[in-house]
Amino acid sequence: MANAPKNLDVVHLTQALITRPSVTPVDAGAMDTVQQVLESLGFTCTRLKFGEIENLYARRGTSAPNLCFAGHTDVVPSGVRNLWRYDPFGAEIHDGAVIGRGAVDMKGGVAAWIAAVSRHDDLSGSQKGSLSFLITGDEEGVATDGTIRVVEWLKDQGEIIDHCIVGEPSSSAQLGDMIKVGRRGSVNATFTVTGKQGHVAYPQRALNPLPVLVDLLGALKARMLDDGYDQFPPSNLEITTIDTGNTATNIIPQDARARINIRFNPAHTGAQLCAWFDEVAAQFAAKTGAQIEVKSTISGEAFLTEASTFVDLIANVIKDTLGLDTDRSTTGGTSDARFIRALCPVVEFGLVGQTMHQINECVAVADLEALTDTYSALIEAYFSKFGSSS
Ligand SMILES: [Zn+2]
Repeated sequence: MANAPKNLDVVHLTQALITRPSVTPVDAGAMDTVQQVLESLGFTCTRLKFGEIENLYARRGTSAPNLCFAGHTDVVPSGVRNLWRYDPFGAEIHDGAVIGRGAVDMKGGVAAWIAAVSRHDDLSGSQKGSLSFLITGDEEGVATDGTIRVVEWLKDQGEIIDHCIVGEPSSSAQLGDMIKVGRRGSVNATFTVTGKQGHVAYPQRALNPLPVLVDLLGALKARMLDDGYDQFPPSNLEITTIDTGNTATNIIPQDARARINIRFNPAHTGAQLCAWFDEVAAQFAAKTGAQIEVKSTISGEAFLTEASTFVDLIANVIKDTLGLDTDRSTTGGTSDARFIRALCPVVEFGLVGQTMHQINECVAVADLEALTDTYSALIEAYFSKFGSSS
């Protein structure tokens, strides 16, 4: 059956989502709201609950190519209520903006893509392929039961996604001024050095773990990781804490810990960096006689969506609709794009991120409408470029 275009209102949809206080991991009915709207637009929805997290995959159409929109319905906590001028979950409109937690990150973006999709009849010439949604309730939290699990499920199902737009607030100062075509990777490591506790006046009877730790950190810090990579700044290693918890003035402590983080470009992989940590720790253990334990976790690998027809298409649509030459950036923290890139080329393009995670988070009504227009033009352009001709 044909689903006639409905032209859903992006502002109402944004408000409906903001009024569900879906602070990670709570869903508060946000995913039901998305599912109901998508079903009314002819999508087949599959709810995927992993742990306590609600996730959703929805698809309309069976033919290739499959253009996916990825986003999240969870939000960060509102913070101190008294500092908000209006109810953070009230979604009130003041001075031309919808105010509330999640307005830009990223309920407004989800609403804009849904509203854009509602303008397209699935049997019209404009959609010669499939549209899909990957929506998670675990982006702002630990992200272990969210997109990463859905991506595994999609692979198991043999579900093919050809290209993906992540609707995170990628714009910097003005809607469309920036899209994200890659991200740096991130790895954390904790080094625990165990020596032998003793009296400071008798150092020969003790083994102080602190100088070992300081020298080890110095050796790590002394390595120049790289001097940048195509479209990326140089990788950087930061020491984030050094602790021993020693409150006495006359004790050489038993152990000491330090934590580091590296933000790295595609010149490295997380596994290579972790192997390097182990190697340096083993050298210092052998040299000093201290025990050194390393615990590393890779939060995300670096990636770059190479310059391609898909990236150009997005940049061209932004130019035509918003009149801007968009900046193809790799800045910012990690996002769920790090998991999706295992499936297909992925680009982040969404609202202006200025108030994300802040008190009085808000989105201009004009931006919501302009983003919906741009997403709609993008759907049109995508299927006329990549769509099957049948
Ligand atoms: Zn977000």
